[in-house]
Amino acid sequence: MPRNERSGSVNLGRHAAECKICAHGQRDEIEQDFIAWRSPASITKQYGLQNRSTVYRHAHAVGLSFAAPAPSGVFVIAAQ
Ligand SMILES: [Zn+2]
Repeated sequence: MPRNERSGSVNLGRHAAECKICAHGQRDEIEQDFIAWRSPASITKQYGLQNRSTVYRHAHAVGLSFAAPAPSGVFVIAAQ
């Protein structure tokens, strides 16, 4: 793991060079699935990725945020 000493900033160029998702033809679909809380295991399988950590690493590097709260059984509709 390379150390990243700059707070709040990931070296995107370096990330992209090693990232299967950045180079993936279906990157948009992968990201949409991820932010919709689709299982990273399913995403990994469907898009032919190496492993789940590829998905997490990409999401972190590009700053993906979830479109909805975690589906933990309680669905909260945000009013604000
Ligand atoms: Zn990536």
